[in-house]
Amino acid sequence: LTGFVGFSNLPIQWHRKSIQNGFNFNVMVVGESGLGKSTLVSTLFNMPLYPPRSEKRPPAEISKTVAIKSVSADLEERGVKLRLTVVDTPGFGDFVNNEDAWRPILENIEQRFDAFLEAENKANRANIVDNRIHAVIYFIAPTGHSLKPLDIAVMTKLHDKVNLIPVIAKSDILTDEEIIAFKARIRADLDYHRINLFETPRYEVDSDETMEEKTTIISKIPFAIVGATSEVTTPDGRVVRGRKYPWGVVEVDNEDHCDFLKLRAMLVKNYMEELKEYTNEILYENYRSAKLMAMGV
Ligand code: GDP
Ligand code: MG
Repeated sequence: LTGFVGFSNLPIQWHRKSIQNGFNFNVMVVGESGLGKSTLVSTLFNMPLYPPRSEKRPPAEISKTVAIKSVSADLEERGVKLRLTVVDTPGFGDFVNNEDAWRPILENIEQRFDAFLEAENKANRANIVDNRIHAVIYFIAPTGHSLKPLDIAVMTKLHDKVNLIPVIAKSDILTDEEIIAFKARIRADLDYHRINLFETPRYEVDSDETMEEKTTIISKIPFAIVGATSEVTTPDGRVVRGRKYPWGVVEVDNEDHCDFLKLRAMLVKNYMEELKEYTNEILYENYRSAKLMAMGV
């Protein structure tokens, strides 16, 4: 069932609300060119959100800054409507000097907070559109070594403004052993630099099963990702989304092959509302009070 995205699985109270209003979700992808950002977004939401690669775009040498581009799509699944916006950051990490690569990204995130703050202060608050970024998927190059200084710089700047979800891009080029070792080094680096990641919140009412699911999801971070938008046939004759190699097929939707389903569970299927709540109640609220304090309000 590859056509299934999963957001219609959200808890029933959100389900009802969303049937009435539709709901929106804004996700930003950050990482060097060619790491599979566009492919992963299409894989996650099971639709092509981007024009094919062949379309002309200015090469990185011409545009000297990170451009911010946003694409929206209306998805519908079992009567549940979702307005999805993907904010892409082409050009990130492509320059000789990437020292300030985080700046336009952070500015974009803060501008969205500012716009929301302004809307909240207006008289009619009924129809505020939430354009804040609810999650950033950060793509780590599959080097197998450790994080790059740029990765650490960017994540350090972003982690208290957004829900950060790091992924190992194109993990099909690493062996299982390499992935395990790479993940451990990345986690140690993140700890050392005190970079906070989004964690699924735990509630007292959680069942043992839910607790276990949350623990498993968190233990897989950074998710080892494989993106693929086309279907291939496995040696045993199944048609799956995956990437074909002379030695076999890497399946996107197979827990034994990569963590794609875990990422999807975190982002789309189970925790979308938690990502939005955490954005609103913690990240935005911290930003708002710091801003008001600085203004002497
Ligand atoms: P972006 O520049 O980060 O948006 O990267 P794209 O999504 O355009 O992908 C760049 C190239 O990498 C394309 O040729 C994709 O087919 C390929 N690609 C994307 N995801 C994967 C993956 O998970 N594994 C491998 N091996 N290749 C991938
Ligand atoms: Mg792209």
